[in-house]
Amino acid sequence: MDNPLPFTWSPQLNAAPADQIRLLDVQTLDARLQQLAHKRRSLPEHAEIESLTKDLTQVRDLLVAAQTEESDCSREQTKAEQDVDQVRQRANRDQQRLDSGSVTSPKDLENLQREITSLAKRQGDLEDVVLEIMERRESAQERVAELTGRVSSVQSRIDDATSRRDAAFEEFDGETATLTKEREVVSASVPADLLKLYDKLREQQGGVGAARLYQRRCEGCRLELNITEVNEVKKAAPDAVLRCENCRRILVRTSESGL
Ligand SMILES: [Zn+2]
Repeated sequence: MDNPLPFTWSPQLNAAPADQIRLLDVQTLDARLQQLAHKRRSLPEHAEIESLTKDLTQVRDLLVAAQTEESDCSREQTKAEQDVDQVRQRANRDQQRLDSGSVTSPKDLENLQREITSLAKRQGDLEDVVLEIMERRESAQERVAELTGRVSSVQSRIDDATSRRDAAFEEFDGETATLTKEREVVSASVPADLLKLYDKLREQQGGVGAARLYQRRCEGCRLELNITEVNEVKKAAPDAVLRCENCRRILVRTSESGL
């Protein structure tokens, strides 16, 4: 129900002025807790770890590719070396036959010599293939070594950022535990109905449920009370729980309210 007065307060809710002032202490503690939670969430290490983790995934993928290339080359090299070996053995056999003098027909001798020449050429070509594979394998090995170094460097940067984050967490969590305990103690001395209203408003109003009336200004929304409102506040019983007409927060009078 709308109150026709420019300034309203909770009709059923009363609390001793000292209790209302203690509510401001609860508000101060809640603000500090909220600040700590915000700091914890917005630590620069979060973004740092996330970006480094992305880098790590990329570098690891490159490393796996280089390792695969290296092992492919290794297999290719074995195969190419076997090819060279086969040709060499065949050439050796031909050479032995030639040297043994068992081949006497000029035509057979000519064929045998032609085959030995062609096998030598073939062996040379295959040895070039082996060399080419070895070069590729060597550069793959260099890449594996380089990427292994990069993986461990990115990993150690992640470890470093993680331990900085954890150290900050520890500090925040310690401070949060202390403040939470303090809040429990202080809020235990605030009447339950007042605290309930405060908690509800705090949730609705971005973390601020109670504000000081300071120099005729609501410290919750920073709006200055007009003269009519000031007069209403002056008329209100000291234990009436006032609400700011503008932001609806609990408005607490103190000796500095300018009344
Ligand atoms: Zn206000």
